[in-house]
Amino acid sequence: MMGKSHLIISTGITLSAMSLLGYDITIPAVAVAGLSALLPDIDEPNSLLVRKAVPEFLLRILQMGLIGTAIYLYFAGVASPPWNIALALLVGSVSFLPGRRLRHLVMLLLALALFAFADAYDPWNYIAACVLVVSSIVPHRGLTHTLYGVAGWSVLLYFASLGMDDGGSLWIAGGMSYALHLLADALTQRGITPLPPLPFKLRLKLMSTGTKKGSAVEKVCIVLTLALALYVFVLTA
Ligand SMILES: [Zn+2]
Repeated sequence: MMGKSHLIISTGITLSAMSLLGYDITIPAVAVAGLSALLPDIDEPNSLLVRKAVPEFLLRILQMGLIGTAIYLYFAGVASPPWNIALALLVGSVSFLPGRRLRHLVMLLLALALFAFADAYDPWNYIAACVLVVSSIVPHRGLTHTLYGVAGWSVLLYFASLGMDDGGSLWIAGGMSYALHLLADALTQRGITPLPPLPFKLRLKLMSTGTKKGSAVEKVCIVLTLALALYVFVLTA
């Protein structure tokens, strides 16, 4: 399923359900619900979230920087030959890593910077850093589409928002939105494996990606979500 569909369906249903249950819909809750709708796909190379977090131009800048550093190391006399060549080759070769690897490197560096320099945004810097670290080390479509992923994300949000004034509902917004993403994926041909290493697979095959029926089901889900949100936030408000 596409990132945008996840964003609409997970966020829309989560906020509607929370409102029906009597929770205040705060701006942080909306932000966390939206982020959590996209989070499970962060280990996909073309994930909407990854593309937004590490845009192409940032990768290009890093590549240029590495090549520049390599040239500098070669000429600056930091090490004597042949070590200056070895050093330059080592640094320069990083810039030729495949896009996905380079992206992960950038994500790790960003996480490091968030840990070190973004104390003012506590706890959001720690949450973002954790997400970046985890998503750059989990295998492709590994742990994110499991119940462990839901649990881990909910627990992280719970503890991160303990000290916040209106943070009480954040873990509910995040956990629910994340779980709805997995539920939506369970409708697709690809399905999910919620509890590895148990081989049990959740796959309802209602939506085979790329087919007419598949995109029709996806559209129906979006329309139903919008209808629910309309009912909750406009008609009964
Ligand atoms: Zn997914």
